[in-house]
Amino acid sequence: MSESDEPLVNVVIDGKSITAPARLSTIQALWHAGYPRVKSVGCLEGVCGSCRIMVRRAGTAEVTMELGCQTLIEEGMEVSFLVFPTPTHHTYELGEINNSWEVQAHFNRIFPEADHCRHCSGCTRSCPKGIDVEKGVELASKGRFREAGELFIECVMCNFCMTACPEFIAPNHVGIFARRVTAYFHIRPSNLINRLEKLARGELQIPE
Ligand code: SF4
Ligand code: SF4
Repeated sequence: MSESDEPLVNVVIDGKSITAPARLSTIQALWHAGYPRVKSVGCLEGVCGSCRIMVRRAGTAEVTMELGCQTLIEEGMEVSFLVFPTPTHHTYELGEINNSWEVQAHFNRIFPEADHCRHCSGCTRSCPKGIDVEKGVELASKGRFREAGELFIECVMCNFCMTACPEFIAPNHVGIFARRVTAYFHIRPSNLINRLEKLARGELQIPE
């Protein structure tokens, strides 16, 4: 099929009416129409979480949260790119946690809001990666950090959940904390430890 035979669709992106081939993502459709969008555009591979969009498809009133680079345009689709500040006041040093017995107390100090979760599911419903964010916060609050961290493995830190949370919990940062402490207090594989020791003794060289 030549480019001129491709099926075209009509969409509205950030208030601009655009006609473009259906194979394009929302970002590519903007570029195709001559709008040089740069803000909120990152890796273009669905892993950086920068290109947050709100989407309403034809024939439905439902609005979904998605990633612009992963969403192909469809006839009648309306898209709005979301740009919002993404501050977090949750700062910590893992080195200050002396042992795994102290993790829960540090978590409660760093994320005191986590216990205030209203179980409104706003975070889960806003997540473009389909993560059960609410469950992750609940698990972390109960000290089940390994299970909580595993839930957040696909997280791209798009901050949708943080913006959706009425209690300012920053669920994605809860998830990152859970993954970090799990790794930090986990015994490393013995073959890795042995190799690192050999490297330190000069018995093993890393090829240039
Ligand atoms: S958990 Fe939050 S930050 Fe991570 S992908 Fe889902 S909405 Fe985005
Ligand atoms: S949005 Fe916040 S309050 Fe609501 S379920 Fe998620 S973490 Fe809990």
